[in-house]
Amino acid sequence: MSLTALLADAATVHDVDGAFALADRHPDAFPVPGCGRTWSLWQALAAVAATDLTVARVLEPHLDALAILAEADRAGHPVDLAGGGRWGVFAAEGPGMRLEAHASPDGIRLTGRKPWCSLAGSLDHALVTAWCGPTQRSLYAVGLGRANGVTVDGTPWLARGLAEVPSGPVTFEQSRAVAVGPPGWYLERPGFAWGGMGVAAIWYGGAVGLARRLLQGARTREPDQVGLVHLGAADAALHACRTVLADAAGRVDDGSADGADGAALALRVRQVVARAAEQVQTRVDHALGPAPLALEEDHARRMADLHLYLRQEHAERDQAALGRLVLDRACGFGLGEGTQA
Ligand SMILES: Cc1cc2nc3c(=O)[nH]c(=O)nc-3n(C[C@H](O)[C@H](O)[C@H](O)COP(=O)(O)OP(=O)(O)OC[C@H]3O[C@@H](n4cnc5c(N)ncnc54)[C@H](O)[C@@H]3O)c2cc1C
Repeated sequence: MSLTALLADAATVHDVDGAFALADRHPDAFPVPGCGRTWSLWQALAAVAATDLTVARVLEPHLDALAILAEADRAGHPVDLAGGGRWGVFAAEGPGMRLEAHASPDGIRLTGRKPWCSLAGSLDHALVTAWCGPTQRSLYAVGLGRANGVTVDGTPWLARGLAEVPSGPVTFEQSRAVAVGPPGWYLERPGFAWGGMGVAAIWYGGAVGLARRLLQGARTREPDQVGLVHLGAADAALHACRTVLADAAGRVDDGSADGADGAALALRVRQVVARAAEQVQTRVDHALGPAPLALEEDHARRMADLHLYLRQEHAERDQAALGRLVLDRACGFGLGEGTQA
């Protein structure tokens, strides 16, 4: 089915249940990354995000989990699970929270707390990272729900953006789990970087949604030179996003975005897209003023959704991580000097 058909369908979906149903109706629209159709996947995610960031936020971890399971299978770590259902990926760490994995006579059990578990109360399963030793973490597939000792904490979700995607802490109490890959595999596998760039594709789509409102404003009131400056700057920023994402998708598919190259590429792509999306937000704010923020449900929600979604990025800390890679890897900034592009 074409991107156009996906978009026509996505335009009718605005909630969590609808988002999962959308993925079920369009299985071909969301191929796993790294199998030759990465740009199609990222375009589909971006296009959905341009329509509704909540729908994209529901789809992204679900598709990421399915991609991780497929990657585990390809890497020789098949996981024997009952298929189907709604998936999440819970990998964040937080101060004062620790989730530990222990062997028990009937398999692995997880006990502890995990922060930032999007939609934990609405999902069937999650891929969860947990400490399997003092310094090592592994990835586990876990059935969610009280029957498996998993409870969503009562922490109120006060966010104005992504309000329908509560992402608070979850407690695991002797929860049965199945290991996915050996210790460390979750972070070391090539797909970790690819998934991070898929998130950037969604930020790009969210910014496109805002730029459409900017363009609509310029069409309904003849822009002065300042209005044109904002429109041109937003377009250039989005062009940069599209170009780096398309280039990165090609590298993911041709095998040149594995290992340290993939990690560097993901940091670069996420930097370019996150900064561009922030720039688009600022341009749209300056060009349109407060009225759409105060009076238009769609615009106010889109702005708040993107604001929160972008905070998944580590901003200057990721710039510092990229700076460290550049310094350590004799980077030539794409022009020959040094060994890496
Ligand atoms: C809406 C939403 C949904 C999410 N859903 C999920 C999910 O389903 N699964 C999942 O795994 N994760 C999820 N996350 C978590 C996300 O992946 C990040 O882990 C989370 O945003 C925390 O970001 P962080 O690492 O910057 O936070 P932290 O590392 O806790 O940093 C918080 C702040 O402290 C600052 N800081 C950090 N270290 C230092 C230091 N040494 N000195 C001074 N300042 C410091 C940072 O710059 C930052 O501003 C979600 C996040 C959001 C916002």
